[in-house]
Amino acid sequence: MDSFGRKIDYLRISITDRCNERCLYCMPEGYKGWEQTRDHLTADEIIRVVHVAADLGFRKFRLTGGEPLVRGDILEIVRAMKQISGVEVIGLSTNATRLEKLAQPLRNAGVTAVNVSLDALDPVIYKRVTGGEVHQVIAGIRVAVAAGFERVKLNCVLMRGVNEQEIWPLVLFAAEHGLPLRLIELMPLTRTDVLTEKNFYPVGEAMKLLQQRDELIPQPDAKIGHGPAKYYSLKQTGALVGFIGALTNLHFCEGCNKMRLTSDGKIRPCLGDHGEVDLRTALRETTDAERLREIFLSALRSKPLEHQFRENYQPTRPMTAIGG
Ligand code: SAM
Ligand code: SF4
Repeated sequence: MDSFGRKIDYLRISITDRCNERCLYCMPEGYKGWEQTRDHLTADEIIRVVHVAADLGFRKFRLTGGEPLVRGDILEIVRAMKQISGVEVIGLSTNATRLEKLAQPLRNAGVTAVNVSLDALDPVIYKRVTGGEVHQVIAGIRVAVAAGFERVKLNCVLMRGVNEQEIWPLVLFAAEHGLPLRLIELMPLTRTDVLTEKNFYPVGEAMKLLQQRDELIPQPDAKIGHGPAKYYSLKQTGALVGFIGALTNLHFCEGCNKMRLTSDGKIRPCLGDHGEVDLRTALRETTDAERLREIFLSALRSKPLEHQFRENYQPTRPMTAIGG
């Protein structure tokens, strides 16, 4: 439990700050600030942190980044995590450009759930947003659906004037494939041109847009993963859509259940708060699990009540290092 009585049992792990795409809202143009490989935690170090977290009662883990599938030892990491007592869920967040080949090996290794970023279906808009090729993503999604994960979800970050016309096609795509779609408000996570109030598109507006075409039925009990989305089913299309109103939902942080491990080995108790606690130094200095446990617990105790996004929050680290 954290200082505010919330049960924190979910650790998101950024296994790399590198990525093969360049999303407008995530990666500043020309970003070259890759950390050196030696800065990244090794597979062994990540596994040691997972052991500590699982001993403390963490049950849900997610590998993210950056793009986790650019890391060559991802399958090794997943296999080792699966062996750890207490690890119940191993999620993966990916842009899916490499999922076509990797979905089945990841499933076989022990990944239980996959979140795919898909901000547009139109190839031109998709390329504008990410720099990548949407057909690779669609192929990855198809293979992932067939690979037998417990859950595959789609994530779309809403940007006015960039992909708002893609919302409805994405809803239809999600319905057709039976996949939950989550619409996410733009958060000030990295310094990029798209992060302006002008581009901000609140989830409330997305709801109104969908209501013009279908009836939204609240699903307050929908347990689809462990995230903060509020779900609605669409009566005619059958789609299940989750809204992540990180900025406009004033109760957003009340149900928070997670902390993050950055790709350079810091515990980040809150995505929208600069506080971090260094674990890497201890990981490299000692094999004493008790010391790691103490550091981990001190991070947990320092978890703030809520994020600072509405307080003119100025990001100082790229989202890719922190882990989405
Ligand atoms: N590369 C993987 C991917 O794209 O899914 C995993 C890492 S990415 C940083 C994780 C999630 O963070 C994605 O769903 C992405 O859309 C989201 N994200 C990144 N920057 C964001 C921002 N500024 N506001 C809201 N969501 C953001
Ligand atoms: Fe890469 Fe994911 Fe960030 Fe896009 S959102 S730049 S795919 S890490």
